[in-house]
Amino acid sequence: MRADIDVLVHEVGPRDGLQSIATIFPTAAKLAWIRKEAQAGVTEIQVGSFVPAKLLPQMADSAEVVRGAKQIPGLQVSALAPNLRGAENAMTAGADQIEVVLSVSEAHNQSNVRRSVAQSLEDFSRIVAWRESHGGAARARLTGGMATAFGCTISGPVKVAEVMRVAEELLKRGANQLSVADTVGYANPRQVKALFQELYRTVGTEVEIGAHFHDTRGLGLANACAALEAGVRKLDASLGGLGGCPYAPGASGNIVTEDLVFMLEAMGLRTGIDMDILLEARDIMCRHLKGEPTHGAIARAGVPKGFSPATVN
Ligand code: ZN
Repeated sequence: MRADIDVLVHEVGPRDGLQSIATIFPTAAKLAWIRKEAQAGVTEIQVGSFVPAKLLPQMADSAEVVRGAKQIPGLQVSALAPNLRGAENAMTAGADQIEVVLSVSEAHNQSNVRRSVAQSLEDFSRIVAWRESHGGAARARLTGGMATAFGCTISGPVKVAEVMRVAEELLKRGANQLSVADTVGYANPRQVKALFQELYRTVGTEVEIGAHFHDTRGLGLANACAALEAGVRKLDASLGGLGGCPYAPGASGNIVTEDLVFMLEAMGLRTGIDMDILLEARDIMCRHLKGEPTHGAIARAGVPKGFSPATVN
């Protein structure tokens, strides 16, 4: 991570947000949003998902978006891929980082990708092998994404031991970093802190671990704060909280980027992000929405009088 920031805010809206709403953004609109957010100082943006277009038409232009985003100086372009085909396509398009996601919950993984966790781990190895024969780690960094790490809509609580086992497997198989997700809004701050502490004990503190929280039940930022206390320095968020939870209609989805940036900066943690330009990026995004709700307190209330961010731009 750069020496001049304390926490890396990883914007996932162009992927996580857009894939869960009905509006299909034109490629140019996605890139205008991404460009403005990069200008605000966001250095890592997940710009698309390499899934079949018939499953997610919103993501059909992901290769084009990756290529466009790669033109932005200094931006780390990340993408999601559910399987080898997707990861190949993401690497071919030139993504710097590819997050390969599996669900820690067996039932959720089966319902999502019709594979067992063991099979998905085998798939991860195949993706690493493909990368090794096509340029290696210099080509792209692979993130082992662990969905439903805190709970699952199908089977309920998820055992911490299972999360540890999957994390160790992913690293053993060649993951460069990990991302732990509260996919369906189960986590509470105490649980989050305990899980990340256990994870660092298990895999070591030198492994880069990101956290992905949803605000489904109002605990998103509290969970982010708990993750920070455990040592996490990379947090996913979505501008305007775009997205939503497919299992809870009307509920908010990802934590809100601008609210997270406000919290971090107010706590004295530098994000390198300029709030004013970030809100301009939000305006660009909102212009293209067709009735989908956005979330966030800072966009409504503004920053408090006399607010002095930790980041000096
Ligand atoms: Zn999400």
